[in-house]
Amino acid sequence: MAHKPIKDNAHSFAIRLMQHLVVPTFVLDAERRVMIWNKACERLTGIPAKEVIGTQDHWRAFYDAPRYCLADILTLGCLNDLDTLYTAHTEPSETGNGLRAENWCTMPQIGSRHYLAIDAGPIFDDHGKLIAVVETLRDMTEQQNAQTALQNLAACDGLTGIANRRAFDERLKIEWARAARDQQPISLLLLDVDFFKRYNDNYGHQQGDECLRLVAETMAASVFRATDLPARYGGEEFVVLMPNTNQKGAQAVAERVGERIRTLALPHAHSDVAAHVTVSIGVSSALPCTEQAASSLVAMADTALYSAKHAGRDRVVLFEPATAPTTAESTASER
Ligand code: GH3
Ligand code: MG
Ligand code: MG
Repeated sequence: MAHKPIKDNAHSFAIRLMQHLVVPTFVLDAERRVMIWNKACERLTGIPAKEVIGTQDHWRAFYDAPRYCLADILTLGCLNDLDTLYTAHTEPSETGNGLRAENWCTMPQIGSRHYLAIDAGPIFDDHGKLIAVVETLRDMTEQQNAQTALQNLAACDGLTGIANRRAFDERLKIEWARAARDQQPISLLLLDVDFFKRYNDNYGHQQGDECLRLVAETMAASVFRATDLPARYGGEEFVVLMPNTNQKGAQAVAERVGERIRTLALPHAHSDVAAHVTVSIGVSSALPCTEQAASSLVAMADTALYSAKHAGRDRVVLFEPATAPTTAESTASER
């Protein structure tokens, strides 16, 4: 009986080894046709090897529409596509000849989104010619979801559930820089509950907490643009950051917030301004320049808020750079 050459034995053993690797792996030839689709890859994607071997249809396992996978990008050398096609990737220079990226994949066959960490490595022949690309996949969905949950938790205010001060400070810096770059206006509302110390003293701290929850909820519900950020600034003070919004737009939102909180009609027997909970709101707007600090937007809103308090509370005051802050609205009791 004739023995197979040792080289052939080694070759079939290598293929068998790869098929049984616990890491989901597939291999493309130099024409980007699937040569190997291992069992772990079948389990991960729900696509049997026989459906993809010899085709260029490997994208179907991961995405709803045709697009390049990491192995295609490596084969074709179109590294500029990494930015648009992947959530995250390392710089090609950091990974030698290979590529490393991460992405949310829709995985149409199994019908659930998975976050995959992906490596693609080239295989060359003895003359340095590319003959295949190996792509290995790691399912990082649980870790990614846990990380997102942690990030959300870290950005959330424990009492009211809206964004906290830290998240606000971060967004303010980003949006301020963006507004300076795009020369777009940016506005801020700084809102403070009137006579809230007396509210606590009269109704107790727990009901005070409940009042803050309702004020936060009402404020957040009065803000319609997805890019606006309602946040708790601290204590009984709240903010709404509004990119691409001028003073007029910000004033409209501020008046809506004030009105809705009035309409909540939370009893406040010891307020000097009304029989229910009211708020004072300072509004600042700017067309930022890069030399100006982002915190100046808060400082201007704070000045306007101070004026609102001194003018009798329960009102919106706009910060006016050239002149003293002006009262934008009469109080509910004056109307
Ligand atoms: P003004 O109209 O001038 O704003 O008066 P005010 O009483 O609202 O202002 P002041 O700054 O004197 O009091 C704010 C109060 O808010 C005091 C503090 O105990 C209360 N406060 C701050 N954070 C919380 C909180 O998380 N829960 C409760 N219940 N109260 C809080
Ligand atoms: Mg205050
Ligand atoms: Mg207050």
